[in-house]
Amino acid sequence: MSKPINKIAIVGGGTAGWLAAGVIAAHHQAQAGSGVKIALIESSDIPTVGVGEGTWPTMKNTVSKIGIKESTLFEKCHAAFKQGGKFVNWVDGDGDFYYHPFTVPLGYGRLDLAPYVKDIESYAVESNFQHHVCEAGLAPRTMAEDEYKGQCNYAYHLDAGAFADLLKHHCRDELGVEHLIATVDYAELNDVGDIERIMFTDGSDYQADLYVDCTGFSSLLLGKTLDVPFKSTDDVLFNDSALALQVPYQSEDDPLACHTIATAQNAGWIWDIGLTHRRGVGHVYANDYLSDDEAEENLRNYLGDAMNGLEPRKISFKSGHREQFWKNNCVAVGMSAGFVEPLEATAIMLVEISARYIAENLPPDSGVMSVTAKRFNEQMDYRWRRIIDFLKLHYMLTKRPEPYWQAHTNPETIPQSLQDDLAIWGFRGPISADFDSAIELFPAASYQYVMYGMGFKPDFEKQAYLYQNQSQAERIIQQNQQITEQMLRTLPPHRDYIEKWLASHH
Ligand SMILES: Cc1cc2nc3c(=O)[nH]c(=O)nc-3n(C[C@H](O)[C@H](O)[C@H](O)COP(=O)(O)OP(=O)(O)OC[C@H]3O[C@@H](n4cnc5c(N)ncnc54)[C@H](O)[C@@H]3O)c2cc1C
Repeated sequence: MSKPINKIAIVGGGTAGWLAAGVIAAHHQAQAGSGVKIALIESSDIPTVGVGEGTWPTMKNTVSKIGIKESTLFEKCHAAFKQGGKFVNWVDGDGDFYYHPFTVPLGYGRLDLAPYVKDIESYAVESNFQHHVCEAGLAPRTMAEDEYKGQCNYAYHLDAGAFADLLKHHCRDELGVEHLIATVDYAELNDVGDIERIMFTDGSDYQADLYVDCTGFSSLLLGKTLDVPFKSTDDVLFNDSALALQVPYQSEDDPLACHTIATAQNAGWIWDIGLTHRRGVGHVYANDYLSDDEAEENLRNYLGDAMNGLEPRKISFKSGHREQFWKNNCVAVGMSAGFVEPLEATAIMLVEISARYIAENLPPDSGVMSVTAKRFNEQMDYRWRRIIDFLKLHYMLTKRPEPYWQAHTNPETIPQSLQDDLAIWGFRGPISADFDSAIELFPAASYQYVMYGMGFKPDFEKQAYLYQNQSQAERIIQQNQQITEQMLRTLPPHRDYIEKWLASHH
């Protein structure tokens, strides 16, 4: 028999839980008494993972829809602009680098510049001004532009703890989300396998119509209670460990990077994220290839004196995801659904996408739930496959000699779907039509930046007759140079802009 769905219990108060609460509550006007009631339940004994500071440009829309001003986000979360990723030493470890900027190449959709650039490695340099804006450490906009607008596309770097806190206050005070502090001990199922109620360690219980599992790695409801198996992807992506640090600036006006820096190491990579008040730095690595002590040594070499007095925090993780994401009346969002290394900040992006799906497809009664769940599972399965392929692309084209990197080039570790893509891209490169699904996460431009940045040049000569637009290509490349020069003249230094912009709000 079909039951109305108007009570939602979100279990977990990390970034996933609070983002899900905000997105669903804002969409369903919970505050205005629409009939949908949302409660977020979190344990005071189980900490959040406390990392996750790089986001994707989708966050602009997510935060603005929840109703948070961009200046408030910056002020409360010590946020900075993120205009893409800089990948250092991924090709041969000799100081090489390339950018994956968030702005698509100039002329994108009109003419693919890849067959015309001088060196394939300089694709992002010749086709896109954002590479230069990042190298110069500039903000993506001037004081003349409004909140959430920019001359370059951007996302944010933000303090994970402060972000969850901001969302919590906003959800409670503005969006009508009820906040309960309790530790879930177990959940009771009814005879059709739905969660009937969750039982707390103090003996009390809670009942809802839909349960959103945001319990992080423990996956308490979807994994443990509903027994949905975990699909490991460590045969493709080997990393399973991280050492995380919060690094103070030496002085208040130290330059503030406007992109994530990912520097390859002998068996993994180091992230470097600039917030206004500190940096978040960490080493992601594979324990099979690198001990924790060796990883700490890599961090010490990377940070030099800045590491003095700091103790890294070790985080272990399993790379992979659940075989289903929505089962019966339970849907997992965040790390309870899965996690792979944070190379392209896909985790929080998937949280946003999942929360939006739940909000937009929330069935009014349980009769439609199985269809909603089936669609969600199909979409998420596709997205996970795409993410895994895209992350692997960063590794498989390396020329680095260490065993970890060579193992990444072994075809046995490369998904067949990615091998098939590379076979096609080998003669014409990635094009938009390869990514025309409405649920695609990354555009062709992202694959182009990474693939060409890694030095993979398609054999355009094989069909040279297709690439006879030399003069049009030159015009676009020249135009890119002009725009670059203008931006370098007019865009303000990153830290200066944030300080002036926030001061103008007081
Ligand atoms: C090393 C590392 C770096 C990362 N970097 C990035 C990045 O740059 N960008 C990005 O997008 N993502 C990144 N991530 C992922 C990102 O941190 C997470 O996706 C994000 O923080 C969401 O986590 P979560 O809310 O799912 O889980 P958690 O933060 O672990 O929160 C779990 C919540 O569940 C509660 N809970 C657990 N069990 C119970 C229970 N029994 N009863 C009640 N409550 C319970 C806890 O109290 C907590 O509130 C990174 C992850 C790691 C490990």
